[in-house]
Amino acid sequence: MKITQVKVLPIPVGARQKTAHCYFFLTGESIIENLQNRRNRPNKEFKALLGKVFEKTEFNQLWLDGHIKANWSQQCGCSCGCSPGFRLTGLYGKNIFVDVQY
Ligand SMILES: [Zn+2]
Repeated sequence: MKITQVKVLPIPVGARQKTAHCYFFLTGESIIENLQNRRNRPNKEFKALLGKVFEKTEFNQLWLDGHIKANWSQQCGCSCGCSPGFRLTGLYGKNIFVDVQY
């Protein structure tokens, strides 16, 4: 699995979100595959890529120094479970969007 794009965007004003989130998108996946995989994301593979993700952001030193912790949550982006991702404690005001492909 390799990273094709990393985007850092501000958390929208008014969003009820306390810490930063990091969402992964598998590109090249069909809509059917996406629906099937939504509750079964390869989150261990995603976690192994986080170091490389942070290398592409301005937060790399915070990550290297251990100030940011990432915890996978199926309910990260939505309480219904449709938008899993990592909750990033120690980072505020931003969300990170990562495109990956096999
Ligand atoms: Zn939902």
